[in-house]
Amino acid sequence: MDKDIATPVRTRAILEKYGFSFKKSLGQNFLIDTNILKKIVSFADLTDESGAIEIGPGIGALTEQLARSSKKTVAFEIDQRLLPILEDTLSPYSNVKVIHNDVLKADVAEVIAAEFADISDLMVVANLPYYVTTPIIMKLLEEHLPIRGIVCMLQKEVADRISAKPGTKDYGSLSIAVQYYTEAETVMIVPKTVFVPQPNVDSAVIRLTRRENPAVQVKDENFFFQVTKASFAQRRKTLLNNLTSGLPDGKQKKEEILAALAASGIEPSRRGETLSLEEFGRLSDELYAYFQ
Ligand code: SAM
Repeated sequence: MDKDIATPVRTRAILEKYGFSFKKSLGQNFLIDTNILKKIVSFADLTDESGAIEIGPGIGALTEQLARSSKKTVAFEIDQRLLPILEDTLSPYSNVKVIHNDVLKADVAEVIAAEFADISDLMVVANLPYYVTTPIIMKLLEEHLPIRGIVCMLQKEVADRISAKPGTKDYGSLSIAVQYYTEAETVMIVPKTVFVPQPNVDSAVIRLTRRENPAVQVKDENFFFQVTKASFAQRRKTLLNNLTSGLPDGKQKKEEILAALAASGIEPSRRGETLSLEEFGRLSDELYAYFQ
């Protein structure tokens, strides 16, 4: 087996060979600890029949581990300067394809159809660029891609918000948006010392396992998310206040909002952070008749 890319010595040698300088604006913090990488991959439960999609391969540290644990790995990298480096570092692996594109602009569904036609088990595994973690995760979930789930490294603070339970300070519209589509768990806290350069924030790995059906059945998904966002607009405000100021024409429709709260058995004086997904589902269905 080839020497791992993710050791401090080999990483430094690769960076020096190519005169590579990190771009902070692209969230470039590379992993230099093979044990951490192997653990990340183990959380994805891949087999030699699985496919892996990586976002931001960097110099290939995680890509290499994915190539060894999957049938095929496809990685999206935005930074053109990394392409010749990846060609070099990943040359021992014939089951890897690197696509030069911004993952937020890429047609991921089309890539999956083209690259993974013979693979039914598909996972996204990534050490995400921290400046765009939430848009990337939401894109992957909202596009209803045929993936089993996502295992990714991100800022610990965002991981806490994603996996938060009702009644906690971290619970908010992001927790609901992600938990609507997936079961979310934080599986590992990662120290800053395993990256070059070291990020300014603490990191964590989360595992999102796609639900067969969304956590709640609602009449209108977009309206459900509109209601949850409005409910958390100002955390210290009551649900009634947030809904009257956050929903279209909410102030004129205060009576209707009160009726919907009553019909769903939710006290108007409660705060958004105390409502479960089921309660938000009931409430948004009751409100829907008045706002559609
Ligand atoms: N996977 C490598 C590792 O773990 O060492 C690098 C991870 S680094 C945190 C994030 C990577 O994402 C960088 O290679 C960066 O160039 C790339 N990147 C940043 N924004 C991107 C985007 N919008 N689409 C695809 N890749 C992106």
